[in-house]
Amino acid sequence: CGIVGYVSSVAPTAADHLATDVLLQGLGRLEYRGYDSAGIAVVTGDGDLASEKRAGKLANLTGAIEANPLPAAQTGIGHTRWATHGGPTDGNAHPHLADGGKLALIHNGIIENFAQLKAELAADGVEFASETDTEVAAHQLAKNYRAAGDLTEAMRLTVGQLEGAFTLLAVHADAPGTVVAARLNSPLVIGLGEGENFLGSDVAAFIDHTRKAVEIGQNQIVTITPDSVEIIDADGEAVLGEPFEIDWDP
Ligand code: GLU
Repeated sequence: CGIVGYVSSVAPTAADHLATDVLLQGLGRLEYRGYDSAGIAVVTGDGDLASEKRAGKLANLTGAIEANPLPAAQTGIGHTRWATHGGPTDGNAHPHLADGGKLALIHNGIIENFAQLKAELAADGVEFASETDTEVAAHQLAKNYRAAGDLTEAMRLTVGQLEGAFTLLAVHADAPGTVVAARLNSPLVIGLGEGENFLGSDVAAFIDHTRKAVEIGQNQIVTITPDSVEIIDADGEAVLGEPFEIDWDP
């Protein structure tokens, strides 16, 4: 339902450049859309991936993180869920993990062909931890990453295999400082900072940090690092996003 992504190289002396805080703040801004669960995943500079997720209000997630803090990190993804496949439980909340816990993925929308892909992955020996359509995308991305060796290319291949309407964001422990994303008939926008970049299902996700944004087209794949934003189309060709200034006040 609500999506936020963050990458930074700004020294996290102030909490406003720590992934956990930026992601929770962004999810707070997206609460108006309604949701039933929330979760985040962060990747440290050393390549440790950690995540936390909870059914219910954002306060449940915040409380769980206060009780059991995530490592200080400058890369991460955050999600508020409106359940379509699988009830609103802790286990069905996003992020969903794959590749032995090294990959985390969040998803807005619906993957129509998840049952077929799930059967194929299960035949490969993949064990599923949830009832969601989303978890299939996480394992499919992991499979493509193993084959392609590159997260952006793996996301491009994955989008070509999924049917439906969706926005996907993913991080991998092997790629600290990188968030990859894709959209197909579902919203996603980039926020440009200084030494940090953002992704959001709408600009509210990063309005506290920047007013510079970039529109992404449908069926495009985005890779952000603290100092770069790259967009490609379904064929892997580079495309230019449409920059715009956010003239809206929360
Ligand atoms: N279909 C996914 C699920 O039920 C994502 C729902 C959403 O957009 O939040 O987990």
